[in-house]
Amino acid sequence: MIICDKELCTGCQACVSVCPQSAITMQADKKGFLRPIINDQLCNNCGFCIKSCPININYKKDEKQEKIVYAAWNKNSKIRKRSSSGGVFTVIANYILDKNGVVFGARWTNDYMAVVHDYCETKEGLSVFQGSKYVQSNIGDNYKKAKNFLENNRFVLFSGTPCQIAGLKSYLKKPYPNLLTIDLVCHGVPSSKVWKDYATYMEEKHNDKITNVQLKYKKPSWLSSSIKITFKDSPTYLESVFTNPYYLGFVKNFYLRDSCYKCKFSNINRQGDITLGDFWGYQPYSLKFIGYNKGVSLIIINNNSGNTIFNSVSKNLVFEKSTIEKAIRGNLNLKEPQKKHEASKDFWKEYIKTSNFIYSIKSYIKQNCQKTNSFFNKLRRYKYILPIWFVKFIKKIKK
Ligand SMILES: Cc1cc2nc3c(=O)[nH]c(=O)nc-3n(C[C@H](O)[C@H](O)[C@H](O)COP(=O)(O)OP(=O)(O)OC[C@H]3O[C@@H](n4cnc5c(N)ncnc54)[C@H](O)[C@@H]3O)c2cc1C
Repeated sequence: MIICDKELCTGCQACVSVCPQSAITMQADKKGFLRPIINDQLCNNCGFCIKSCPININYKKDEKQEKIVYAAWNKNSKIRKRSSSGGVFTVIANYILDKNGVVFGARWTNDYMAVVHDYCETKEGLSVFQGSKYVQSNIGDNYKKAKNFLENNRFVLFSGTPCQIAGLKSYLKKPYPNLLTIDLVCHGVPSSKVWKDYATYMEEKHNDKITNVQLKYKKPSWLSSSIKITFKDSPTYLESVFTNPYYLGFVKNFYLRDSCYKCKFSNINRQGDITLGDFWGYQPYSLKFIGYNKGVSLIIINNNSGNTIFNSVSKNLVFEKSTIEKAIRGNLNLKEPQKKHEASKDFWKEYIKTSNFIYSIKSYIKQNCQKTNSFFNKLRRYKYILPIWFVKFIKKIKK
């Protein structure tokens, strides 16, 4: 039985969750991405897995639904600082928890070697979900747990990448009025094997255990953030995202999941009731937005439930209406998937052969990203906040 085209499988685990025979398990491939494996002896060919796979579903464009777009941030500056963008996720999550609801999101495992999905029922428990972890999270049995809560009439907020939300919905099969979904604008998800090797390398180098990781630490600012890794006793490691090898390999598309380069969800037909992302390219038009370099969230309201929730939580936000065109200008993932780096194949060949991430990074990633530090590339980091005429002018000079 073939569930879907192997290259397009997102690892969402809808097939595992739906299988009545528990005949499907997830196993890591040689790049470290989880893939469904069917036990032929248990499988009774019911085909539920094929039917529930989001890759096999033909999503129709909802032309009628008008997108409402906001630039916004959380009025609570401490939470905004801890969050990747403007901290809007926490505002919505708090609202659900106030209604005795349950919030699902992604957190680091206790040893910081991987990312998994989990749920929480208290506001104290929310902090583990704050901040983006640029590693594919393992959904585990969280679709089933969410269904249980929904059937027991609890409010559920499920957040994740668009493919994870699509997986949840196809697993549930029917809409639930007590379910709210948030999908993230997603660049693509890196391999958890690559992250584990990098984290292990950092522990060996510092001869200490990792006690916290922030892959989007807003120092010096949201627009120019850092990687922060805290150790038990050793000094904290802080490096700019423009030079950290793990981050460079992620944003330059060396080790995203193969399906990310062909992602069917990288467009404005969103899977969540609400879509959240960074509002790259945001330019303030009013004085109340002057502190935007501490992080601005992009909010796309995709339907009426999203709109109702936004209206209920908006008193906790600084926000301004925007347009989908402005959102796409700063975030190409809303239009098309990322393109694989031309040296990605060689990187994987070397990495799989040697199992030496740092050697492979030095041979391929650092070499290919050196130009990142040239003057024009440094300027490129700020292109979204520069006036369009200035960007065009610089392009002319460069030519
Ligand atoms: C892998 C990845 C790629 C992204 N790429 C882009 C991008 O290209 N452009 C863009 O505008 N935004 C991107 N984002 C989204 C962005 O970084 C923020 O997560 C989003 O704007 C919400 O931020 P916040 O400040 O509201 O709250 P935060 O507190 O930062 O919210 C964190 C939310 O992200 C979820 N989350 C964190 N890590 C993961 C993960 N590994 N898998 C699934 N869910 C996760 C948490 O469960 C929580 O819901 C990406 C996020 C991830 C995880």
